Amino acid sequence: MIDQTVNFTSAANPRPGLAMTFKKYFNRMVIVKKIAVYPGSFDPITNGHIDIITRGLRMFDELIILVAYNPNKSSLFSVEERMDLVRACLAGNNIRVDCSSGLLVDYVRSKGANVILRGLRAVSDFEYEFQMALINRRLNRDIETVFLMTGYQWFYTSSNLIKEAAGLGGSVKGLVPDIVNERLEQMFATVKE
Ligand code: ADP
Repeated sequence: MIDQTVNFTSAANPRPGLAMTFKKYFNRMVIVKKIAVYPGSFDPITNGHIDIITRGLRMFDELIILVAYNPNKSSLFSVEERMDLVRACLAGNNIRVDCSSGLLVDYVRSKGANVILRGLRAVSDFEYEFQMALINRRLNRDIETVFLMTGYQWFYTSSNLIKEAAGLGGSVKGLVPDIVNERLEQMFATVKE
C-alpha cells in the first residue's frame, strides 16, 4: 500500500476538479495478494500437512510450500522427490512448491509474503513452535506466524512416525496421500520380503 500524498494538480493540469491524491488512486488500483509460506521438511508429506494446506488456502490467496532442507541432516526422500510428491498430491491447487536451506524470514520477504503458516498438534509441538515464532519475529518484525490446529484425525500423524511405521512394514494407508503410500511401499518393499 502506498502512503504518500501527491497532488495531481500541476501546471500541466491546472483544473482543480481533477486534483486527486496519488494514495487514493493507487490503493484503489492495486489488489494486494495475501501470500503465506508453509515451511517444513515434508519428508514425506502426510495427510496432516494436506489438512493445514487446504485450510490455509481458504485464508490466503496463495501458499508457497517450502521444503526446507539442511544438507547436513539425513532424510528419507531427496529434496527433489519431496517437492515432486507435494506437487503430485496438490495438483490443481493454488500453491507453489519451492526449497531453501537459508534463513526463513529472508525467504518469506523475498517472495513478497509476510505470513509463515504452521500447524500445531500436541503440547509437544508448542514449545518448539513458540521458540521458532519468537526468533522469527525477532529477526523480522513484519512477518507473523499463523498457527492452525491440526484436524483431530491427524493429531498423531507425523512424518517421522509414518517413516518408522512404514519402515517396519506397518500400513500407513489413510495417513498419507495414496501416491506417498505407494512410494513408501516401494521403498520399504525389501523389509516385507
Ligand atoms: P513433521 O513435524 O511431521 O516432521 P514438518 O517438519 O514437515 O513435519 O512440519 C511442518 C509443519 O507442519 C509444522 O508446523 C508441523 O507442526 C506441521 N504438521 C506436521 N504434521 C502435522 C499434522 N499431522 N497436523 C498438523 N500440523 C502438522
